[in-house]
Formats: sequence, structure tokens, C-alpha cells
Amino acid sequence: MRPFAQLDADLLRRYDMAGPRYTSYPTAREFRPDFGEAEYRRHVLSGHSGAEAPLSLYVHIPFCENPCFYCGCNRLITRDHAAADRYLDPLAREIALVASLFGKNRPVRQLHLGGGTPNFLRPEQLSRLVDGLGRGFFLTSSAERDYSVELDPRFLTVEFIDTLARLGFNRASFGVQDFDPQVQRAVNRIQSEAQTLEAIAQCRERGFQSINVDLLYGLPRQTVEGFGRTLSAVIGARPDRVAVYGYAHLPQLFKAQRQLDAAALPNAETRLALLRLAIEALGAAGYRYIGLDHFALPEDDLARARERGDLHRNFMGYTTHADCDLIGLGVSAISHVSDCFSQNHRDLQHWEGALDDGRLPIWRGLVASFDDIVRADVIQRIMCQGVVDVRAVEERHHIVFGEYFAEALAKLGPLGADGLVTIGAREIRATDRGQLLLRLLAMCFDHYIGPRADAAEPPRFSKVI
Ligand code: SF4
Repeated sequence: MRPFAQLDADLLRRYDMAGPRYTSYPTAREFRPDFGEAEYRRHVLSGHSGAEAPLSLYVHIPFCENPCFYCGCNRLITRDHAAADRYLDPLAREIALVASLFGKNRPVRQLHLGGGTPNFLRPEQLSRLVDGLGRGFFLTSSAERDYSVELDPRFLTVEFIDTLARLGFNRASFGVQDFDPQVQRAVNRIQSEAQTLEAIAQCRERGFQSINVDLLYGLPRQTVEGFGRTLSAVIGARPDRVAVYGYAHLPQLFKAQRQLDAAALPNAETRLALLRLAIEALGAAGYRYIGLDHFALPEDDLARARERGDLHRNFMGYTTHADCDLIGLGVSAISHVSDCFSQNHRDLQHWEGALDDGRLPIWRGLVASFDDIVRADVIQRIMCQGVVDVRAVEERHHIVFGEYFAEALAKLGPLGADGLVTIGAREIRATDRGQLLLRLLAMCFDHYIGPRADAAEPPRFSKVI
């Protein structure tokens, strides 16, 4: 698959609009405050996943030592590491409360620590967190496990990596963005190439099976030459996965971004050239396109899952664990259990206050309707395979596809005319040139898309390119 081969700049410009990343459908924007603890408990207890079905856990560590100016994450900037101890106390209570609902028979097949910066924790704090998880949940040592962590090489110690390895972590994801010093100064993230490559090597030496590197294009002062050097250095380290995200400049939503020099942001042509360069360089180095902004080596689990047709997408991004209920723990974390979604309070005070009162810290959520479930199924197939098997969707949901999705198919028509998708009676398939615009195809099936007076919050979507 060559997602850029036939994509002309004119077409990309025409379709360069904002849209969801579809880590869930409905997106978090639709979650409602009238979904609370009682609804969550009811749905977990009546869930149909089975007493021994595997689980996926996400734990949010919100602290960072230094603010990156491009950041759109929910994080707290501090150098006070005792703040992590104060966070781990209520987090332990949340773990115990949630775990009591799920029992200890369900193996945790996927565990992910995200942030913020998970390696803000000291090794002993990390041990304490994972011990707490192990007391509540069935953490497995199976080779099938997928225990991953986001790491910031600037603050990473050998002791921390040793502790991760001892606790069973086998995947690491490194934030890099760009090694170009003038970009790093502009975004307030000074991180040397040597420091990053050393951290990757240390994880490999300690048996980590999979390494991911995150890059960002569209940053201030970024040039094709500088980004090309970054790509060469990253490809030289041969990470199993590479994500190349497009920077979304939304200073009205993310305060940190107001510190960036907007005049130094690359124009649309340069953004496109940066993306083209990344796709070509990764393709030439043997990486396969997974979807959206993700690439993986052919032997990586994600590439294999994409080939087999069982790749899945959830709040952690692309994953091979389609059958797991996902439990989010910590401030702002999102869960997807059975047919319901829920999100914890986004601010520490409310999150902690609920736990102090012995309550689950749920801020908002929703129970997916039949229509949500059918559309989520189609959107998953588009985002993960680029193909919708029409008959299979009809059989799974007992619908007549052409009637149920008449409006969506009408919206899809112009994209078909532009050669982004083929629309047949049996199959809807993204073409090679449509692969980079999967979000656009998915948006045709999204009932909630567009400005709406009843939306819980304004759209916070990034551009599709
Ligand atoms: S980009 Fe990552 S490391 Fe930087 S401030 Fe945001 S969460 Fe922290």
C-alpha cells in the first residue's frame, strides 16, 4: 500500500479539515454528565464480557517536569516528586474500588501507563503503583501480555528501566517529535539524539520486545532538511513502530500552545512536504502503513493484525486487543466497558474529592445506543482496515446496509468521485489515495459530526492532514 503515491497536493488541500481521530465512537465530546457512578456500576455488573474475559488497563500519570509548548495533554508541571506520592494514595483507592467490580479472574492482557510523563515517578513509586494494580487485578506474566509505558528520555534513569523490566513491562514508547535544535528551542523541549538513542538501546538490552517513537510534523521552525535528519536517526534505531502525528495548533483550547511563535509555524506546503517525506522515508525503510499516522515493521503485531483483519482502535490508539474491556484509572482517564463509556474528572481536586468520599471519580459518560454500536462497527473497519464488508455488517446487526446508511452513502459519493474510496454493493474500500484520509471516510458514518447546539462541548478536533 502506498498511501501517498497518488495523492496530489490540491486534493489534500481541499480535504484538509478538522475531524475526530476515532479512538472511540461516539467521541468523548458526546459524553454526558448525567452518566455517573450508579450507571457505571450497573453496566459493569450486567456486562456480557464473561467472568474470565481479558482486560485492558490504562493508568494516567499527569505530572511533567517541563512544559512542551505544543502540548495538548492533561498534565501538571511540577518538579516536586512528592506530588506523585500524594497522587498515588487516591489512585490506590480508585484501583481497589474499580477492581472490586471486576474480580481477579480476568487477566490483564494490556496495561499502559500514559501521561503526562510516567517516568516522573521514582522507581519505588512505580513499584508501589504496580503492586497496587497487582493486588486488585490479575496481572499476567504470559508472553501474550502487552505492558507498555510512555517514556521521556530527558528524565529517564537506568534504575527506572530496570524497575519496569522487573515489573513485567515489555513495550516502551518514546516522545521525540524532532531532533532539530532550532525546533526543540521553539517548542521548549531540548532532548538530544544521543540521549534518546541510548534510552532505546537500554530498553532493548533489558528485554523490551517493542519500541515505539512518536514524531510530530508541523512544528515551528521545522524544515524538510531538519526533519529528514530526524527521520534518518530514528530509522537508524529501527523502532518497531513509528507514529508521525500532525501538530494541531489550537491555542484557544490549550494554554501551553499560546507560548509558541505562531508566525514560525510551517505553511500548508511545508506541512505537506514534511508528511510526504516521512511517508516516503519510512516506506523506503520497510515500514508498513497501519492507518492514520502509524507505521510498523512487517513483523510487528500491529502490522500482522492489520494483515489478518483484526486490528482494533481504542483510547490508546491502534491495538491488537479487540476483545478487552478497557478500564481507565487516574485523573481524566476514559473507560470503555461493555457498551458504556465513562471518563474520570479532568481536574485533580474533583477526582481526589470523589475518592476521599469513597466514590468512583466519574465525571461523565454514555451508554451506546443500537445506532452508536452499528456506526462504531463501520467506523472501526474503516479506521483499522480501510474496508467495510457490507454483508458482514448486515449480518452482525440485522440491518439492510443501503437503507440504514443511505445518508452516509450519499456523503461518501463525492469522495468516491475523487478516487478516495470505491463503493460497491458488497464492499466499501479506501483506495491507496484514500488511506491517508480514513478519518474523512469515517466522518460520513458519524451521526454526531458538525456543529450542534446540544453538544456537551465544542469540537476539539485536529486537521485530518
Ligand atoms: S508533551 Fe508530554 S512531556 Fe511535554 S508537557 Fe505534554 S505531556 Fe508533558
